[in-house]
Amino acid sequence: MTDTRRTKEPDDLPSLWTHQPHEELTFRPGDKVADIDAAATPGFRGSKSDAPTLQEERNVRFAELQEMLYANSRAGDTRSVLLVLQGMDTAGKGGIVKHVVGAANPQGIDYRSFGKPTPEELSHHYLWRIRKALPQPGHIGVFDRSHYEDVLIVRVHNLVPPDVWEPRYDEINAFERELVDSGTTLVKVAMFVSLDEQKKRLAERLERPDKFWKYNPADIDERMKWPLYQEAYQAMLDRTSTDYAPWHIVPSNRKWYSRLAILELLIEALKGLNMSWPPADFDVEAEKKRLAAV
Ligand code: AMP
Ligand code: MG
Repeated sequence: MTDTRRTKEPDDLPSLWTHQPHEELTFRPGDKVADIDAAATPGFRGSKSDAPTLQEERNVRFAELQEMLYANSRAGDTRSVLLVLQGMDTAGKGGIVKHVVGAANPQGIDYRSFGKPTPEELSHHYLWRIRKALPQPGHIGVFDRSHYEDVLIVRVHNLVPPDVWEPRYDEINAFERELVDSGTTLVKVAMFVSLDEQKKRLAERLERPDKFWKYNPADIDERMKWPLYQEAYQAMLDRTSTDYAPWHIVPSNRKWYSRLAILELLIEALKGLNMSWPPADFDVEAEKKRLAAV
């Protein structure tokens, strides 16, 4: 009798997606930040009510692949994955860390957030703190903000002159080329919320005592600079979306969508490593006999 329990491979994209999020979301030359519809749900035909079940199911798949990556590193595989999260305040970076990455075993996750550099960090090259935070072999690294701040807030606020930040785009490309060549798969995600949605989320932070800790008065100053940020994000996408480390544009007004989409991007990246469970480096049958005897 045929086994009807499974009609598709576990790796199949759930049917609620019409396209791989990767195909829908990868930045294409000519894409304009000003045209992004942050409320859109590209490639997804389901609705919000489908999200909890689907996310739970795909979280399990993600966690399994993460464990496989970890297991292979024990057998000498040195590859790793690095999720780079960029987005304005309230875009939902923290939610991705909590609800998507949080599904995996923390043992194999190297999480790092990047805020305003410390005096020590400032005394070094901007990639110094980034290199120190790269994922170990077999781990999934998560950058909550990243080296891209050095061409975003730094550019918007003139923290260094243009002749200093301008060469950084090429330098970042070379840096990422080096990472990819050494076995790190980059998943670069730019999360976009509309100004209206951001206003709602900031207002909520001001209403709820349990959200005060997330609120920073400077968020409003950044918000007022949105046109300048738009330019900086556009330049970042135009100049650092490469075939080896492309950017993905994730509309993030609907948190359930951005989470599902980024989850699929991670699953796809892990699947691309073509892993299997590492074989036993001992004689399984002999070990069974030995165990039975004691
Ligand atoms: P948050 O992510 O809300 O904790 O905020 C961190 C803040 O640090 C954001 O406003 C970032 O733009 C800022 N930040 C991160 N990296 C840099 C950098 N290299 N230079 C200046 N500010 C930075
Ligand atoms: Mg913040």
